[in-house]
Parts: sequence; C-alpha cells; structure tokens
Amino acid sequence: METTRISIDLVHQECGECGTIFGMSRALRNCRLGDKQYWWCPNGHQRYFGGKTHAQQVKDLEQAVTEMRDYAVRQRDRADGNHRTSTALKGHVTRLRNRAAEGRCQWCEVVSDDMAQHVADRHPERVNDEGQPS
Ligand SMILES: [Zn+2]
Ligand SMILES: [Zn+2]
Repeated sequence: METTRISIDLVHQECGECGTIFGMSRALRNCRLGDKQYWWCPNGHQRYFGGKTHAQQVKDLEQAVTEMRDYAVRQRDRADGNHRTSTALKGHVTRLRNRAAEGRCQWCEVVSDDMAQHVADRHPERVNDEGQPS
C-alpha cells in the first residue's frame, strides 16, 4: 500500500455553538476570517467569523482618508480666509489711522480741527446714544 506523507497547518478552532474543538487549516481559516463566509463545525453548526470583511475594512480606511483629506482642505481654506480677512482689516485700520493723523473725516474726507464736533454736526447718524461715533 502506497502512502503519502503530507503536512497540514491546523489551527485549533472552537465551535461557539457546541464547544467542540477541532483543527481548521490555517489557509481556510484565514480565508473565512477575510471573507466572512460561513463554515461548519464537525457537528454541522453554521458559523462565521464576526467583524468586518477585508473589503469593508479597506472601504472604511479609504473613507477615513477621504474625511481627513476633506478636513485638511477645509482647515487650509479657513486659514487662507483668516489671512485674507486679517490683511484687509490691517489695510482698513491703516487708512483710518492715516486719516485720523491728518484730522480727516473718515466719511466725507473733510479735514477738521474738531472731529468730534464735525461728526456730531455732519454725520449725526454715525453717533450712537452715548455720543460716541459708531
Ligand atoms: Zn458545533
Ligand atoms: Zn465728515
């Protein structure tokens, strides 16, 4: 009688249903771990490995990468926007400061020694209840 000696890598696997411990080939086990397909214990219990399939894991990772990329883009856009706003405000403040230094009204460009009086006289709508220019 001819015999062939082969070596199979068996992994101990316990059936979650009946508790039977049996040997499952490592290749098959890895397969079922990856594809989440059903397998059966020696007593015929239908089992499968829970969790996500490899395809699902890859999809989740891709989704996470996409979300991180979107987040980075939004942060960069916001930083750009802040920079533009800040630059515009600096320009505005500089213009107001220059006008104030010249004693020039910021609304009508008139130069006046008494700007408070000028504003009260000429731009009453710019003065609020506390008598302060708004
Ligand atoms: Zn079983
Ligand atoms: Zn004025």
